[in-house]
Formats: sequence, structure tokens, C-alpha cells
Amino acid sequence: MRRITILGATGSIGQSTLDLIRRAPGDYAVVALTGGQNIAQLARDACELRAEVAVTADPARLNDLRAALDGSGVRAAAGEAALIEAATMPADWIMSAIVGVAGLAPGLAALGQGTTLALANKESLVTAGPLMLATAAAHGARILPVDSEHSAIFQALVGEDRAAVERVVITASGGAFRDRPLAELAHVTVAEASKHPNWDMGQRITIDSASMFNKALEIIEAKEFFDLESDCIEVLVHPQSTVHALVGFNDGAMMAHVGAPDMRHAIGYALNWPHRRALPVARLDLAAIGTLDFAHPDPARYPALALARQVMAAGGHSGAIFNAAKERALDHFISGHINFTAMSTLVARALNEIGGDTSGEITLESVGRWDHLTRQHIDRLVAA
Ligand code: NAD
Ligand code: MG
Repeated sequence: MRRITILGATGSIGQSTLDLIRRAPGDYAVVALTGGQNIAQLARDACELRAEVAVTADPARLNDLRAALDGSGVRAAAGEAALIEAATMPADWIMSAIVGVAGLAPGLAALGQGTTLALANKESLVTAGPLMLATAAAHGARILPVDSEHSAIFQALVGEDRAAVERVVITASGGAFRDRPLAELAHVTVAEASKHPNWDMGQRITIDSASMFNKALEIIEAKEFFDLESDCIEVLVHPQSTVHALVGFNDGAMMAHVGAPDMRHAIGYALNWPHRRALPVARLDLAAIGTLDFAHPDPARYPALALARQVMAAGGHSGAIFNAAKERALDHFISGHINFTAMSTLVARALNEIGGDTSGEITLESVGRWDHLTRQHIDRLVAA
């Protein structure tokens, strides 16, 4: 029996992970499940899978969670300290699927116990890549990528000589507004931005796909995780979302990872690694698909990509600033305070106005400081 913990169990990635666990009930013992406001879902899953503990991130919901778990034998807990405690309970495999920089501290805590961390939370690598990797190395922990593009690269590199890698190509669907006239982008609604053409994901990452902030985070994530030079990482718009990434080698060969847009593939690969096991994902009929298209992203449509390049060149805590500015701008877009295109304008201003010297050792505390400063700055810009 493998002991499994899922951080962010009630979300899109968390639920897909649970779907795979449920299909092989004898193989796994669930240690901890964590969630946020969806207490009913958290309690239902924790009871069904006999978790030791269920944790809500919100201390104000502890009594609700206790009531929902009453008589089940599952312990209820709440708040930041309880999330860290859940991440440090001995487990063989921990899914990091909290959305946002909130996933950083629990993910680090999990690495501190020397476990295998399946990493969906790209924000951890964007804000604190060197810290994540150093913590894993210090404790003999392993990080397995779950972001579909990074899982694809990881799989394309199996058995390869890393020194032979020339470039990595990450694909992007182009998001909800790929074909919208540029002039209309300022007026798109939150509901429109929350509909992804190919992938079924949480709301925040779906809007980030429309703005390509998701891809911007992913090129930084790839640089950190695979230790790549930033100019080796390319982005191509690929509307079919069938090729997830390609790795180009020094002999001219490119290894492409091709598959259905279903996160259960990448999650399952990380769950079964280093083996492959049958997964309930659709098998592609390439003849039915017929054509695969690729194009360079339009910098005017997707300014987030150039901002990511700026972040990779600046290094230091600029990833923490970039992510925090993006998260806060996204909050303001979702609340209706700013329009869609204002998000990238605000993030650019945050990088340029507070991102001077951001060097210094990256720690949980330093990331927290830059994060806080940046959110305040975004709030001031929005209020002005
Ligand atoms: P989601 O919004 O569906 O779920 C987020 C989870 O995090 C929920 O369980 C929620 O309760 C929890 N959460 C939210 N705020 C929290 C906080 N402050 N503290 C503790 N827990 C909190 O998100 P998702 O789409 O599942 O994405 C999760 C992560 O995986 C993100 O980092 C995302 O970028 C990454 N990812 C998602 C997909 C996808 O297909 N959904 C694909 C690749 C990568
Ligand atoms: Mg991705």
C-alpha cells in the first residue's frame, strides 16, 4: 500500500488524482486531503477514502468540517499550520495541487520529509525554484512534474543524454481569445475568459491560459525544473492541444509527446513512475484529427510571454514579483475591477517599478516579503 496525500484535493487536479486512486483502491492508503471552501466535497472524499485527516485552509470553516466528518473517524483540522502538518505526515507520494503561491509552503514541507512530490503547483518553481530544488536534494526527495507540458518534456528525456538537448518547445492552445480581434480583448468578460477550448481546468488557470500568463509561468517553470537556458525554451501556439511539448536534440531529432488533453495522463505518469500503467484517457485517432497546426505566438496578443523572458533574465525574486502581480491582477479581473488587458499592464508595471534589485537568497520568508510588497503595489495601482 502506498501512502498518498493530496494538497488541494477539492480542485480540478485534486479530483482527477482521486479519480485515479479510486480505480485501484487496494493500492493506496490516503493519509491527508486538503481543500478550501468546498467542505462538502472534502468531507465526502475523506470519508469515502478513509483519510486520516482532512484539512481546510480556512480556519473559519473548521466547525463546518468537524460537523461534516462527525462520527467518520477522520480528523478535522484547519489553517496554515494544519496544512503544513498534513504535508509532513509520512507519505510515499504527495500531490501538490493547491493553486497559487499558497502551495509553496506545504510543498516545501512535503519535500522536507524526503517524499516524492508530484508537482502541479507551478507557482512553487516560479517563485522559489532554487529553494524547491535545494530542499529536495537536501532531503533525498524527488519532484515529478505534473504540468502536462513538463510531464511531456520529462517523458521525452527518458534515457536521453541531457547534454544533447538543444531546445525545448512548449505548446499553447492560444486560449479562449486566440481568434478574437485584438481591439475586443479589453472588453471580454470573466465568463468568456473562464472557458478553455480544449482543457477542463480550474478557473484561475483557465483565465491564465486566455492571457497566456499560464504559458509565461510554464516557461519559467521549465527553466527552473530542467535547468535550461531561457533562450532554449520556445512557445508555439498549437490549437489542437495534441502535442504537449517537444524536445530538440543536437542531431536534429525532435521527440514530441502526443496525447489527448486529459490531465489524468500526466498525473498518472507521476503516480506510476518509473513504470507505465493503463490509464483511462482517450486514445487519439490521428487520422480523424487530420491536421496539426503550429504558429508563433503574437506578442501583441500575448504580452505575458515577453514579461516571462524579462523575469528569466532578471532572476532573483523577480519570479515571486511576477507571480504575485499576476495573482493579484487576476483577483481584480475576476472581481470586475479591471479589464482583461489591464492584467498584463499591471504586471509589467510591478516588475518595472518594484523589481530593481531583487537578488538575495530565496527563502520562504523572502518570497513572502516580495509577494506581500507586490500585492500592495498592485492594489495601489488599481485604486489610483
Ligand atoms: P483549482 O482552483 O481547481 O483547485 C485549487 C485547490 O487549491 C482547491 O483544492 C482549493 O481548495 C485549494 N486552495 C485554493 N486556495 C488555497 C489557499 N489559499 N490555501 C490552501 N489551499 C487553497 O485549481 P487547479 O486547476 O486544480 O490547479 C491547481 C494547480 O495545478 C495550479 O497551480 C495550476 O496551475 C496547476 N495545474 C493545473 C492544471 C489543470 O488542468 N487544472 C494543469 C496544469 C497545472
Ligand atoms: Mg500546462
